[in-house]
Amino acid sequence: MDMLQVFHMNKGQGESSYAQNCTVQKKIMLLAKSYLKEAIQGYLKNGYPESMVIADLGCSSGPTALEAVSDIIEAVVATCPKHLSPKFMVFLNDLPKNDFNGVFASFYDFQEKWRKQKGDDFGPCFIAGLPGSFYGRLLPPNGLHFIHSSSSLHWLSQVPQGLNEDDQPRILNKGNVYISRTSTMEVVMAYKQQFRNDFLTFLKCRASEMISSGRMVLTFVGRNSVEPTSLQDSYPWDFISHCLATMVSEGLIEEEKLDSFNVPYYAPCLEEIKELVDEESSFSGHIFEAVEVEWDGGINLNDESSSLMMPTKGERIAKMHRAVAESMLQHYFGADLMDDFFHRYAQVLDDYLIQNPNSKSICLVVSLIKN
Ligand code: SAH
Repeated sequence: MDMLQVFHMNKGQGESSYAQNCTVQKKIMLLAKSYLKEAIQGYLKNGYPESMVIADLGCSSGPTALEAVSDIIEAVVATCPKHLSPKFMVFLNDLPKNDFNGVFASFYDFQEKWRKQKGDDFGPCFIAGLPGSFYGRLLPPNGLHFIHSSSSLHWLSQVPQGLNEDDQPRILNKGNVYISRTSTMEVVMAYKQQFRNDFLTFLKCRASEMISSGRMVLTFVGRNSVEPTSLQDSYPWDFISHCLATMVSEGLIEEEKLDSFNVPYYAPCLEEIKELVDEESSFSGHIFEAVEVEWDGGINLNDESSSLMMPTKGERIAKMHRAVAESMLQHYFGADLMDDFFHRYAQVLDDYLIQNPNSKSICLVVSLIKN
């Protein structure tokens, strides 16, 4: 699968859109706010620049795209003396199929919000879209002061080599779409190697683009255990494999189709990240933390008026995952199977959540300083 051609969050504002289903990512942004603030304050200890060039990598198209920018600007404005507030140049990056129009459509409201809050003290904020993969160079050298990337770096540049649909002379990960308990070492190593290549490339590219002592704050899905085949870490992909396998058994999907499908995703542990940051050596590791996040972002629906029409927890989580993964799944299995597939997936999630109501995933927070 060519990520540049296929992958995108669900567009627009509709029921299945990323914009309406990014609760968990919003929660992660909230968790990361204090790290952003700390990094900005740290950077501004070196002096107050006349202008700041900022990039948000993997911005997507929901409310979170400009929220991240807001959080960064808020932290800068709060730290600088009023008359020394910088002008902002913000680059919003994502893959070319991202709904950039959706982001730009909300730019006016964003500007107005800041103008109302800060009046003339708020220097202009220039925004530009930057389509392309963050696993390549995005900007000219030595220009960026601050980089932010939220909930994006667990996506690989491609399905790991050897596990791609086209380059599997023999099936390596039968019945699974990601590393699972039954995956062989060959599969685990293919995933580890792809992540290693991608993350090192990411660091190298950002190091070229950033000024010395610039800051970078990253959050992405990770895992707690050093061992990637642990039970907890293969969720929810195991459920996705299970639902696809059921559809195979009912003749709705060809078996070979499932067997040759693997996701371009990897959830690393902190140790792997620390090692790669050390090895690449352009950044000083500043903060490395693993934070737990509820599968549904921890929103409490009991507070809202209850109704029989209220979606179950499994349905809500399935919608969130649909907004993220549908472009990829429909590319492989066809758009007409998606409603059926996500309906089954919601049920499997509900069954699991009855026994495990407090299931959580791991979000890694990494704050780096460019040497
Ligand atoms: N930062 C937003 C969106 C997270 S969703 C938030 O926190 O809500 C992850 C985003 O990363 C998606 O929009 C996806 O298209 C983007 N993405 C994945 N791989 C990418 C790559 N190689 N280059 C740029 N963007 C990428």
